[in-house]
Amino acid sequence: MESVVQNAESVIRLSLFFGLFVIFGVFEVLWPRKSLTSPKLSRWFGNLSIQIGNAVLLRLVFAIVGLTAVGFSAFIEANQFGLLHQINLPQVLGLLLGFLILDGAVYGQHLVLHKVPVLWRLHRMHHADTDIDVTTGLRFHPLEILVSMAFKFAVILMFGVNPFTVLIFEIVLNATSMFNHANMALPPSLDRVLRLFVVTPDMHRVHHSVHTAEYNHNFGFNLPWWDRMFGTYQDQPVDGHDAMTIGLPTYRGPEWRSPWRLLRIPFDNDTPRHAPDQGQGQGHLT
Ligand SMILES: [Zn+2]
Ligand SMILES: [Zn+2]
Repeated sequence: MESVVQNAESVIRLSLFFGLFVIFGVFEVLWPRKSLTSPKLSRWFGNLSIQIGNAVLLRLVFAIVGLTAVGFSAFIEANQFGLLHQINLPQVLGLLLGFLILDGAVYGQHLVLHKVPVLWRLHRMHHADTDIDVTTGLRFHPLEILVSMAFKFAVILMFGVNPFTVLIFEIVLNATSMFNHANMALPPSLDRVLRLFVVTPDMHRVHHSVHTAEYNHNFGFNLPWWDRMFGTYQDQPVDGHDAMTIGLPTYRGPEWRSPWRLLRIPFDNDTPRHAPDQGQGQGHLT
């Protein structure tokens, strides 16, 4: 019975993933927000190879550990560990609170990935993409995936987030990550309203700016409120969305689109941890 439920969960997740990927991908072709600077084919090959590798890695972890985040939260629930299991909350409130805790934790984790040098080594692979589109939202170093997984398990253990909330959160986060990286031109009026509730592509694009001052803003992946609460919110890129340069000052050549080179980025010692800012308002790199 359990495996039937797990299979149904996998089918729902995969269908949603492919459905949204196609919708955002088509939207990007029909109504792009920003012209791409690198050949799409080689970028997509690199980014999607990393995503496929990560999916295989997660399968392996599951085979070894025997648990996904949802499975782990079911174990925590059965043993009544964690803060939320100690308070008797109505189901809906428990779900909302659990969702907020997980989302706040992802915001905090993202901030730490930028501030701790060894973690930035892993995360900078995500930032090294010289364009931003739906595939950038899937491009995370496998070691960052493992760190994120361990951190998520710790949060679930500490707060006792229930399995249903973890499942909803993972599905929503996967969808919003593809959405906020998509190169889609949304009407400015719609963006203004949407970013009150969710991180929009224009909001997250600021985070992919080449300028240090800008990529240390807008850490949210899903709810936009944490950045506003903790003073890390930036409304628009200084150079404007059309003129802004995406990526990091190094890792700009075609060789950095190969999946093998991408995997080596954390171990590259020639690159300064935070490359010097090119200054705000200077437009393209030379
Ligand atoms: Zn980041
Ligand atoms: Zn991003």
